[in-house]
Amino acid sequence: MVLEIKTKKRIYFIICYIMLVVLITTIFRQYTNQKIENQLMTSLEDLSQQNILLIQNRMGDKLKELSNLAKKLEQNEVCTCEEVYDDLEEFADVFEFKEMGIALLDGMAYMSGDKEEITKYDISDREYFQYSKNGKQYISKILRHVRDQSLINVYSVPIQDKQGEVAGVLFGIKEANDFIQSFKVPIFNGKGDTYLIDSNGDIMTGTLGNVMSGILNETDETTNLFERLNKYSGNQKATKTLSQLLKENKSGSIYMNDNGYQYANISPTNVNDWWLVTVAPKNVLQERVKEISYAIQILGGCIALGAIIILILIIRMQKKSEKYLQGIAYIDQFTNLYNKVYFEKKFLSNIKEVSGKQAALVIFNIRRFKMINEIYGEHIGNELLRSIASLLQESITSEKEMMMHGHADEFAALYFYDTKRELEERINEILEKIEIIECENNKIKLSMAVGIYEVQNLEYSFEKAYNYANIAKKDSKKSSGSSFSYYSKELRDIEINQKKLNDSIREGIKKKEFKAWFQPKFNAYTQKIIGAEALARWYKEDGTVLSPFHFIEFSEQAGLIQDIDQLIIEDVCIKMNEWKKQGLPYITVSVNLSRAYLNNVNSIYALKRILDKYEISSEYIQMEITESALVDSEEELSNIIDMLHLLGFKVLLDDFGVGYSSLISINNLNFDVLKIDKSFIDTIGTEKGEYITKYIIELGKKLGMDIIAEGVETEEEYIFLKNQKCDMIQGYYFSKPLEASKFEELLKESQIK
Ligand code: C2E
Ligand code: MG
Ligand code: MG
Repeated sequence: MVLEIKTKKRIYFIICYIMLVVLITTIFRQYTNQKIENQLMTSLEDLSQQNILLIQNRMGDKLKELSNLAKKLEQNEVCTCEEVYDDLEEFADVFEFKEMGIALLDGMAYMSGDKEEITKYDISDREYFQYSKNGKQYISKILRHVRDQSLINVYSVPIQDKQGEVAGVLFGIKEANDFIQSFKVPIFNGKGDTYLIDSNGDIMTGTLGNVMSGILNETDETTNLFERLNKYSGNQKATKTLSQLLKENKSGSIYMNDNGYQYANISPTNVNDWWLVTVAPKNVLQERVKEISYAIQILGGCIALGAIIILILIIRMQKKSEKYLQGIAYIDQFTNLYNKVYFEKKFLSNIKEVSGKQAALVIFNIRRFKMINEIYGEHIGNELLRSIASLLQESITSEKEMMMHGHADEFAALYFYDTKRELEERINEILEKIEIIECENNKIKLSMAVGIYEVQNLEYSFEKAYNYANIAKKDSKKSSGSSFSYYSKELRDIEINQKKLNDSIREGIKKKEFKAWFQPKFNAYTQKIIGAEALARWYKEDGTVLSPFHFIEFSEQAGLIQDIDQLIIEDVCIKMNEWKKQGLPYITVSVNLSRAYLNNVNSIYALKRILDKYEISSEYIQMEITESALVDSEEELSNIIDMLHLLGFKVLLDDFGVGYSSLISINNLNFDVLKIDKSFIDTIGTEKGEYITKYIIELGKKLGMDIIAEGVETEEEYIFLKNQKCDMIQGYYFSKPLEASKFEELLKESQIK
């Protein structure tokens, strides 16, 4: 589910990222297109201004020269055409006209070009004449010569008389071709055009081939720009702008369709009412754009590629950090196996994904791992765990199987199998491999307790399955050596019962249901009570009284024994005070000290505080420490015994003979009393048994200890022990453990005796 959300998020991110890259490149493209368009317009304008300067120079200068000549004629008071006619030819040469002419106000003109006969021509209807007659300088459009119909342009200026009145018109004729050629300047590699228009939009000349043929009357081609624009659709705006510019005598740009879309700059030339139109077809822009757009595309491509690389890097980094975090979250750093969190996460889904096979949750636990740690040290203990982890990992045979490291020496696996036999063979193989592990030159012998839960119900939670495998593991722990147990309902019932027992012991402790019974200890010679052993009994709410068999070992494992021991000591104190009140003889009472006390010095003080509370002197209390507790740590035990002595207690070594301690090590431990275990007393009557018992008594005495025998049931045993100088006797022969009131009676009786 989390993964799905993550993938969705990632897809959204990629889409947004791509959209952003596309948006940025589009905006960038549009921006550069706009820039290029502006640039083109500026260069059109520049071109146009350059050409206007040229026009002004060429044509304006010509008019000026002509005008100067006209003034000279005025100064010379030349007022008849005939008088200047002879000079016209010369003037034409000087001023580079094809011909020159002069006309009076009636429109009758003389021209220099007449070779044989001087002819008068009527130019009264010519536009240039009209203009100059009205006092203006003028350059005509392309016209046909009145004489020979050749194509010409005419530059004309007025001639004024002394009063400043126009008296005639001086004019120079140029071949139209000169005019046309001066505009044939190629722009934009010949793709652009320049042409002149007048304020009506009539095209005078220019580089427009087809229009020129119209001008030269070779075709019917329209020579008016407005008319041309009307021929094509979408020119409304262009027409409007054009007429506005012409009207307001301003320069400006239009985008028009004249046999193809084009950008045009319209600028006044200040020659006649002429305007220069400089045109660049749209494809010129496109070509420019194309070049730049290639560059942009390459740049865009690079950006996109860079963006994609960055995206891939981001995703890879994300995945890496995800993996790293997953590693931290799901991998046990100590063994490199999965941890319980990951195992739990995948447990049920992996089982669901494997069909046609049985699944088992198997817990592996190293027996007595604590001891291995103590013997070989923590460092080797850790190495050992790592070796076991890699051996266990080798047992994983398919993708969906998993191995995890749990707490301390616990591992768990999810296996798939076809038959139980197959599973067992697999587990046995692992157990064989783990039997002896070599670790830094130590060959360590190991055994494992293995609990197997065959997954039956996928409705169960992982916790439940793990708990079941754990129940099986606990069962397997009961046997020695490597072994495995299957979870079963019976085991579960035991577990449930144990849980119940735990709860009710806790409740019993709270309600002080644990009381002391007393088994008297007798002087072997006088047969008088010289003391007693307090033995715990559980007075349950339902009226039953339970012996230690039902709760001591369990309480030890459940960590409840110290509370019980304290309750018993308290009860002993209470009873001793009662006996004291009743004037009964003061006897020494021994209490059994669980091994849990031996690992915790402070807990001994808790016992002393109870004695202090009831004002019982510790010299009347003996502490019984069982021999099997000696295995743990002799040094610690020695400290505890010294401390007990310091607090005034006597210390008794209980169950001597069942453990494996030697008398030598016991000598170091300063016990006051040695209690021979019932198992030795039972051997009395056999030669060997009697020999050993005799030997223990002698040696114990030599080591300075008083000797007590427990579990004495027969007269024969008693006589033998007495003869061997055993000091005290405890056992059914004299008395079973008694509840406090009965023991009290016994004490009273013994007083009477
Ligand atoms: P233990 O300290 O060795 O106590 C002697 C056990 O032997 C007692 O069993 C007692 O009833 C039994 N016994 C005594 N004489 C004879 C005999 O002649 N024949 C037979 N068959 N048994 C005899 P009990 O009371 O069932 O206690 C069992 C063990 O439980 C004790 O062994 C002691 O280790 C432990 N225990 C009892 N009370 C306490 C306690 O308050 N605290 C702790 N930590 N352990 C206790
Ligand atoms: Mg005892
Ligand atoms: Mg005992």
